[in-house]
Order: sequence, then C-alpha cells, then structure tokens
Amino acid sequence: SPHFQIEGLKAAIEGKEILKGLSLEIKGGEVHAIMGPNGTGKSTLASTLMGHPKYEVTAGSVVLDGEDVLEMATDERARAGLFLAMQYPSEITGVTNADFLRSAINARREEGSEISLIKFIRLMEGKMKELEMNPEFMHRYLNEGFSGGEKKRNEILQMLMLDPRIVILDEIDSGLDIDALRIVANGVNAMRSEDRGFLIITHYQRLLNYIKPDFVHVMMQGRIVKSGGPELAERLENEGYDWVKEELGIVD
Ligand code: ADP
Ligand code: MG
Ligand code: MG
Repeated sequence: SPHFQIEGLKAAIEGKEILKGLSLEIKGGEVHAIMGPNGTGKSTLASTLMGHPKYEVTAGSVVLDGEDVLEMATDERARAGLFLAMQYPSEITGVTNADFLRSAINARREEGSEISLIKFIRLMEGKMKELEMNPEFMHRYLNEGFSGGEKKRNEILQMLMLDPRIVILDEIDSGLDIDALRIVANGVNAMRSEDRGFLIITHYQRLLNYIKPDFVHVMMQGRIVKSGGPELAERLENEGYDWVKEELGIVD
C-alpha cells in the first residue's frame, strides 16, 4: 500500500514563488480533494510533483514509499507509480494513442517481459469500452484534434492502463458534460483500492458528488489552509471562499 508524503514544498516559476510550503500526506485507499480559487497554484502543485522542468523546487520534500521523488526524473516518477492527468493535455503528432500507451506500459516493465501486442490490444479495447470511447481513438495521434472532453477521457484511459499507485487528477471535470463526467467518475471509482491513493484537484464541488473524497483541502496562495471532510466541499460550493479568508485572516 503506497505512502506519499509532501512536506513544506516550495516551488517557483521564473523566480516567482507559487508553492509556499505545502504539506499533504496520502495513503493507499484514500481519496484527497484539493479545492481552491483560480491562480492559487493547484496546477503548479501537480506539475511540480511530476517533475516538470519549468518549476524549480526551492524547499521541502516529496517521498513515495521512502524514496525521494524530487531526486527522480519525470519518467522515473512514472515508473515509481505516480500518474498525472493534466488540466491541459498536450497534443503529440506522429505518435498514436496505442503507440504511446504501449511504450508507457513497457517502460514500466523489466526488459524481456514486455506486454505482447495481442494482450495489449485486448486490454486497450476493454478499457476503451468501459469509457465508451470510439475504437478509432486507438490509432489517432495523441490528443490531436480531440475535443476537451475526449482529451479528459483519454487521460482516464491512460490511468486505467498504467495502474498507478498515486493518481493526481487536475480538473478532470472541466469541459465534461454530465454523461462524460459520470463515465470518468465510474472509471476512477473502479480504480479505488488499498493499493492506490488519489489526489483530485477541482474547482467545483460537482465532481465530488460522483467521486466521494475522504478528505477535502482548501488551497490558497500556494498552501493548504484548511482541511476537513466532504462537508467542507459542500460549504465551499454554497458559500464560496470568502469565509475561509475571513476565518484565517487572509488578505489578497
Ligand atoms: P491554479 O491551477 O490554481 O489555477 P496555477 O498553478 O495554474 O493555478 O497558477 C498559479 C500561479 O502561477 C498563477 O499566478 C499563474 O499566473 C502563475 N503561473 C502559472 N504558470 C505560469 C507560467 N508559465 N509563467 C508564469 N507564471 C505562471
Ligand atoms: Mg486554473
Ligand atoms: Mg489549474
């Protein structure tokens, strides 16, 4: 069962500090939600955890099962079991969805134990069916010309195929209509297990009606400023963020 610990994390972009000492612990079986106003550093947190070179870590630690994540390159983090579904997935011309996923799976396996093509295709077809994706997406270039909703569904397909230990979903609900949201949430819920922890970043409470979190955290100005249970998300939905600012004396 995974144990993921972020302590006092600070990160900067172009010399500007965005994460200002963020701490969070995620254990196997747990679903944590982070909510917060726009521009507060949620996507910066996600990218920093995956090792995006744009973000410079200036303090703190990130540890997965005793291993120092900050010492790892992005592909090593993926191999260690970290997975990020991005808010804005990139398009990659010349690489099909199937090519991409097959090399991602094989990169995580020992040499000589690569997944066979037949097995891979069966697995991918099955997962695409679960997500009600058109089979043609298997051979389309990665995210190229995909609609917002199709990109999000494709991110969830990657999650299902890669079987990660810590899953970070950055605004997976944005751009999804209610049917697509339900399909995506079903995919996530089917993956919930003691062998996996989730960090769900969202701007809206709506997603949390479909994926019930164990813990809800409010992020403001690069820190987690308040934590609670699902009732916290409901209050934020009804009352917005001002009461949190008042309670904590945050001025912006
Ligand atoms: P959120 O996901 O909570 O909306 P972000 O992490 O995207 O917030 O952004 C946090 C802050 O970092 C914002 O003030 C944003 O303007 C700044 N920021 C994000 N990306 C860049 C960038 N590439 N260059 C400069 N500033 C950036
Ligand atoms: Mg944003
Ligand atoms: Mg964001």
